[in-house]
Amino acid sequence: MSQRAYAGRLASRDQASRTGPSRDCEECRRGLRSCHLPRGSVNPLFDQLTCEARPDRLDSRPIHAEVLNLPKRDNPRVATLKEVISCTSDYDPDALPVAKANEVIRSFVHPVSGVEKLRVRAALGRVLAKEVVSPINVPSHDNSAMDGYAVRNDDLGAGEPVTLTEIGTAYAGREFTGEVRRGECVRVMTGAVMPKNTDTVIIQEAVNVEGKRVTIPARQERGQNRRLAGEDLQKGKAALTAGRMLRPADIGLIASLGIGEVSVRRKLKVAFFSTGDELVSVGKKLKAGNVYDSNRYTLWGMLTRLGCESTDLGVVRDDPKELEAAFRKAAAVADAVVTSGGVSVGEADLTRQMMAKLGEVVFWKIAMRPGRPMAFGRIRARGRSAYLFGLPGNPVAVMVTFYHFVRGALLTMMGRTDPDLPLLRAKSETAMRKKPGRTEYQRGILELKNGEWGVRLTGAQGSGILRSMSEANCFVVLGHDQGAINAGDYVEVMVMDGLV
Ligand code: AMP
Ligand code: MG
Repeated sequence: MSQRAYAGRLASRDQASRTGPSRDCEECRRGLRSCHLPRGSVNPLFDQLTCEARPDRLDSRPIHAEVLNLPKRDNPRVATLKEVISCTSDYDPDALPVAKANEVIRSFVHPVSGVEKLRVRAALGRVLAKEVVSPINVPSHDNSAMDGYAVRNDDLGAGEPVTLTEIGTAYAGREFTGEVRRGECVRVMTGAVMPKNTDTVIIQEAVNVEGKRVTIPARQERGQNRRLAGEDLQKGKAALTAGRMLRPADIGLIASLGIGEVSVRRKLKVAFFSTGDELVSVGKKLKAGNVYDSNRYTLWGMLTRLGCESTDLGVVRDDPKELEAAFRKAAAVADAVVTSGGVSVGEADLTRQMMAKLGEVVFWKIAMRPGRPMAFGRIRARGRSAYLFGLPGNPVAVMVTFYHFVRGALLTMMGRTDPDLPLLRAKSETAMRKKPGRTEYQRGILELKNGEWGVRLTGAQGSGILRSMSEANCFVVLGHDQGAINAGDYVEVMVMDGLV
């Protein structure tokens, strides 16, 4: 059975939706932090807006929450990770190709089932839970696409110009109510409903007008410059399908149907923390051997951009007891937990033993650069479970593994049906060293040069050099089987920012 088919058979996971009123700070309610700051202020302790301070929460308060009526599956039991892995061919945790790791992850995670009804503007960036069926035709009437004259095409000459009599004007929103007879025409403005009996619009620049006499040149096409009723959206048909993230065009389209509310999946709750004895939080003094914890900032940024509701659990020491407590807390409050550090060869044993108590977690060495070690699975605490993504500690590796494994998994959990990003082709300006047998994500700068997209690397590509990510506008994706690249070769790139 293919993974896709296998994934289709897995039961949907129904995590209870907690979409209650957002008047109270959710983090406070859960006892994770105490913020008694005035609305709109920044909590200096966490260097982050408190939820009280987020006006978007008030705007996006759900009209009501419901549970999505998912189709019944033939196997309602949630598969274990072991079962998913047993269906994966050529599975080797110590040299796992990127595509295989994603195959396992995507087969194991399931969309959350909680749905809430939101007003259209509050639904921007959210994932549509149910298709939007058009209750009307858009446009609702045939109308003019240009300023000009509406005519009966049958009146026009095949080879000779024809002179018609103008009998009135139709404006957008102000219809011409009379009937157009043979030899007559009506002046029309863009968006005006086509007057009765007319089927063609001649643009005003093409005609010769003398008083009410309008001369139309020969050879005008029937139906030209006329928009047909329903040509944009047809009554009774799906205008938008479930599983898409609502972009500005979509909320405009929903409004064009006269619909004021939509059903979207509830927000995904993601808890995250950094691990490492050497880590110091911003605002504290750096001692010898210490580094500032930057991963909690990049993780927060990436989660926020994805539209997740994130919970920052801070820095956790490399101590089994502290780690276990943090994982338990995270699993109890979130749908997914993302951590950094603690999975590299030197540290994995500690984490592995502790994880075994909490659930089912596998430790992988992925055939990729940067970001070789990673842990993945599901952990449980206080009657709830959460997917776990244990990312490496190196700042670039965190971002690369997040974008290439976690992002797609979280989008799938959010109900998105299009979690993958497109790869584009660009000409490499320089040679790149690359060994077959692993996927590499180099950080590049994509630029249009002489009408063609060219890409160059940002400089030093070490997995600790966060500047390489900051300067980059794309990943150069060098595939698993690919060898070295010569200057002038075409490579695949993934653009980091898009039009949304
Ligand atoms: P680890 O994967 O925990 O062995 O960490 C690998 C490297 O990443 C080490 O040099 C760490 O100091 C660094 N590192 C780990 N976590 C962080 C973090 N949160 N922020 C910045 N650097 C980190
Ligand atoms: Mg560490």
